[in-house]
Amino acid sequence: MDLTLSPADQAFRDEVRAWLVDNVPDETRPPDGPAMRTFDLAWQRRQYEGGWAGIAWPTEYGGRGLTLVEQMLWFEQYAAVGAPPPGVCFVANNHGGPTLIAKASDDQKQAYLPEILRGEVVWCQGFSEPGAGSDLAGVRTRGVVDGDELVVTGQKIWTSYADLADRQELLVRTGDGRHDGLTWAVCDMAAPGIDVRTIRTMEGHHDLCEVFYDEVRVPLSSVVGGLGKGWEVAMSTLGFERGTAFMADQVEMARLVEELTEVAGDRFGRVNGTVADDEVRRRLATARAEVAAMRALTYAGITRAERDGNPGPQGSITRLYLALLRQRLFSLAVDIGGHDGLALGGDDPTWGRRWLRSFASTIGSGTSDIQREIIGTRVLGLPKTA
Ligand SMILES: Cc1cc2nc3c(=O)[nH]c(=O)nc-3n(C[C@H](O)[C@H](O)[C@H](O)COP(=O)(O)OP(=O)(O)OC[C@H]3O[C@@H](n4cnc5c(N)ncnc54)[C@H](O)[C@@H]3O)c2cc1C
Repeated sequence: MDLTLSPADQAFRDEVRAWLVDNVPDETRPPDGPAMRTFDLAWQRRQYEGGWAGIAWPTEYGGRGLTLVEQMLWFEQYAAVGAPPPGVCFVANNHGGPTLIAKASDDQKQAYLPEILRGEVVWCQGFSEPGAGSDLAGVRTRGVVDGDELVVTGQKIWTSYADLADRQELLVRTGDGRHDGLTWAVCDMAAPGIDVRTIRTMEGHHDLCEVFYDEVRVPLSSVVGGLGKGWEVAMSTLGFERGTAFMADQVEMARLVEELTEVAGDRFGRVNGTVADDEVRRRLATARAEVAAMRALTYAGITRAERDGNPGPQGSITRLYLALLRQRLFSLAVDIGGHDGLALGGDDPTWGRRWLRSFASTIGSGTSDIQREIIGTRVLGLPKTA
């Protein structure tokens, strides 16, 4: 891949930056609850009105249809100006909508896609269950066909933002076959029989939930891909979930290292314009080199995806490295911040909170063990462990 930006790419980058600088909200994003939902949907709406909603969605579905390089430029500028995370809009934009585009009927696309882009609805993902996380095909929540409805009974867990969501991408068991007994449907979160209970995380937020279903009636018209075809649809969802949003991460990490270098200089003093403390200076230099490695992995992934049409199993190397790097960097931030670094109070996402949060990055959307398994078997060609 030629990493030199063409004049058209440079112009595009400048256009993106100018729009973001003018439109990124000034207010602090509320940390959770209905206020966060309102904030995230308003930001989504502003992107829609500016023509920047669904940047990776095809134009025929109202998206911007950006190339991979353009998406990378968008995400880099997005992180560089400190734009807010997509938050409660992530599932709908990054995998609910793209799954519908790939697998749903025309009626379903018309019913669900426009409201996502306009920032009118929040989606959540009902895949994981107690006993079905890494082993997703172990889903046991039952869906029984009754007339033109699916009657759903069971439990999901770790459902991000279920308490704030309007719709859910729901994976249920409608047959006995391990893979061909699964069905993917859009569930209305206001349907009678749904009980959502929030889980308090160690950083003090409530964005994870348990969801209980007691004979919840889901119209068969909401089943995507057909009864018993849920595994194929779910694999498509996971492919999109692990998609291109990571492009912003290396920029966010680079910003963090520069910020830490400033704070460390103030705290430990400076010699010849650099941090005076040898140990801290060495750790910062390592961090900067690791962020550069992360950037190289990101670009390699984009090159591969442009060439082959998908990031391939090598994408797991980037994901594993990023998850571990995030933990190392926030651990460094807490050390450099001293007393302030450990602060957990207030609404702003402090380093202490982000350090606690970083532990989730080696679990969510595929644990580090699973990434290592993919790297071992599919990249290195080693035999499977089990
Ligand atoms: C912040 C966060 C948000 C999440 N949001 C959602 C959401 O919105 N919707 C949703 O459906 N789920 C969500 N999840 C759940 C997430 O997908 C699961 O936690 C994840 O898939 C792991 O499943 P598990 O928790 O059941 O752990 P398990 O699969 O039970 O794993 C337990 C341990 O065993 C290891 N292990 C398991 N299988 C293997 C193997 N084959 N080889 C080696 N080691 C293995 C794992 O690495 C782990 O260390 C979220 C999780 C987090 C942390």
